[in-house]
Amino acid sequence: MSTAFDVVVIGAGPGGYIAAIRAAQLGFSTACIDEWKNEKGGPAPGGTCTNIGCIPSKALLQSSENFEAAGHHFADHGIGVGNLTIDVAKMMARKNAVVKQNNDGIVYLFKKNKIQFFHGRGSFLKKVGGGYEIAVAGAKPQTLMAKHVIVATGSNARPLSGATFDEKSVLSNDGALAIDHVPKTLGIVGSGVIGLEMGSVWRRLGAQVTILEALPDFLGAVDTQIAGEAQKAFTRQGLKVVLGVKISAVTPADGAVSVAYTDAAGTAQTLVCERLIVSIGRVPNTTGLNAEAVGLVLDERGFVSVDADCRTNLENVWAVGDVVRGPMLAHKAEEEGAAVAERIAGQKPHVDFNTVPWVIYTHPEIAWVGQTEQQLKAAGREFRAGTFPFMANGRARAMGDTTGMVKVLADAKSDEILGVHIIGPMASELIAEAAVAMEFRASAEDIGRICHAHPSLSEALKEAALAVDKRALNF
Ligand SMILES: Cc1cc2nc3c(=O)[nH]c(=O)nc-3n(C[C@H](O)[C@H](O)[C@H](O)COP(=O)(O)OP(=O)(O)OC[C@H]3O[C@@H](n4cnc5c(N)ncnc54)[C@H](O)[C@@H]3O)c2cc1C
Repeated sequence: MSTAFDVVVIGAGPGGYIAAIRAAQLGFSTACIDEWKNEKGGPAPGGTCTNIGCIPSKALLQSSENFEAAGHHFADHGIGVGNLTIDVAKMMARKNAVVKQNNDGIVYLFKKNKIQFFHGRGSFLKKVGGGYEIAVAGAKPQTLMAKHVIVATGSNARPLSGATFDEKSVLSNDGALAIDHVPKTLGIVGSGVIGLEMGSVWRRLGAQVTILEALPDFLGAVDTQIAGEAQKAFTRQGLKVVLGVKISAVTPADGAVSVAYTDAAGTAQTLVCERLIVSIGRVPNTTGLNAEAVGLVLDERGFVSVDADCRTNLENVWAVGDVVRGPMLAHKAEEEGAAVAERIAGQKPHVDFNTVPWVIYTHPEIAWVGQTEQQLKAAGREFRAGTFPFMANGRARAMGDTTGMVKVLADAKSDEILGVHIIGPMASELIAEAAVAMEFRASAEDIGRICHAHPSLSEALKEAALAVDKRALNF
């Protein structure tokens, strides 16, 4: 087996494994090192996304959404289901099987693309003539030679000061995806994407969920109008969100967790819950990389410092994904990974952060791309807004899923689309059309003039685009 490669990728999350595949497609001899272990100690490529992130969370969101639909919405269709039960062990086993399918898929892709996979921790040893020596510490320790190194070591959950993750009562996203029964009460610290998604899963299954959020505004990064709609929808569902809290102590005791905090009015409060999920963001992971051996520069927050093209301070060392600046999203990591491989091949790819879509997979789903109304106002940009409610969309009515709207923001003069914001059914899928339109710098009129299938949810985007010019047809 060869130990000298054109490209060695450290980390097989979405940033790393996509970088490896693209490098191999471009004709480079490529290796990928990843240390993630499955429950048997074997390799589990796919990183956070596959093992304890995007994929398992969406599996549980789907199971819990099915449960809620069967319990609350099937009756509207004349479907009776009798006594509804949830087998949490089976739901978790299905989730684990979905994760394994994805791990196996990456193993297959590595073989198909002739990428050599090394299971273990990769770390820099030293710079040598034409590249770098990389140690692999695993079942079979070895040393690789790399002309180019791509660091894609991802991120870890940020702990709350004074509340260590024990994954029994104080849970990170890892433990939150493996609770073995429906807790009666669930506390969540942080009302970001992960907090809302995990809160939705367990609320649908019957837990009483309270989310404690330090910031004064709900979903501050989301367009204010959409965030307001979301807050109303989640409150109707029984998800309790307390804003402006300051947590002073977290005390696990006797199968419960007690959270002492002051509310927005400064009054001391206590939340007692069976389980507490802490989802207050993620920190870059460079543990074990031995960055200092080669002088790889990290910034003051621990991210690997890179330029706009993901170049580090070291010649032929690149870094992508959660371990560098920018949105911590799997598809952003993938785009950077593919782009770096192409740059190594002398190509000139471009990743535009402004057209990276964002999605929150709650119900209703929330998705957006581009600028929010508050960002445009703060920048003094003149714009026109068009909105269209799903209540007026035939497909949404047929589905019985009419909460929410599409909102299109376009430049007041040129009509170029500056942002699209969706709350409603299948927002995660609908946002793709908006991302394509923005990538091609389309105008709202362009979308309004494109023939959309009827009846489809996508007609709501066309109508919102027409509404920019005050000429929506169905509302
Ligand atoms: C609960 C949850 C839900 C999420 N849902 C979504 C979603 O729906 N959509 C979305 O876009 N994003 C989502 N994310 C974020 C997404 O998971 C990350 O943005 C993405 O995984 C980042 O990819 P990455 O390749 O940079 O790093 P990671 O996926 O973290 O992969 C890094 C890999 O490197 C390995 N590694 C680290 N150091 C070393 C070393 N020294 N040697 C060898 N291997 C090493 C790790 O074991 C890991 O396998 C979610 C995250 C969480 C926690």
